[in-house]
Amino acid sequence: MASNRTFTMIKPDAVAANNIGPILSMITEAGFKVVAMKYTKLSHEQAGNFYDVHRDRPFFGELVEFMSRGPIVAAILEKDNAIEDFRKLIGATNPAQAEEGTIRKRFATSIGENAVHGSDSDDNAKIEGDFFFSQLERF
Ligand code: ATP
Ligand code: MG
Repeated sequence: MASNRTFTMIKPDAVAANNIGPILSMITEAGFKVVAMKYTKLSHEQAGNFYDVHRDRPFFGELVEFMSRGPIVAAILEKDNAIEDFRKLIGATNPAQAEEGTIRKRFATSIGENAVHGSDSDDNAKIEGDFFFSQLERF
């Protein structure tokens, strides 16, 4: 059965461009409820661990540099069909291919600097949420 939770980050590019507010508006207007949220910054090592599945990809170094370069907003979100609906809301990895009305179409500037993260499966949503939040930080 599909879980009703996903995990997201507002990435350093979008935070630096002062887009936390409008991105959170799009997320809540799409019907997602905030279960947990924090403003924090990943170390180089933490960013590498978070994106460990991409360690052998050619863009890994660039990805880790980018994700650790400034603060991010991390959150667990709840909604029916959360994983799939959130991936639809954020749009394609490459903003050039993202549909109108998606967060990446509006705020991403490149395939690397693409404004938001969204979990790609129930298992990863749990792993990623647990990476940032204890049980005491979820409501
Ligand atoms: P995310 O996991 O951040 O939600 P995604 O699931 O759409 O993004 P992935 O394939 O998981 O895409 O890639 C993780 C991240 O790595 C991308 O969001 C992007 O920041 C970066 N990335 C992916 N492909 C490239 C690429 N070809 N060049 C540079 N960076 C890339
Ligand atoms: Mg991904």
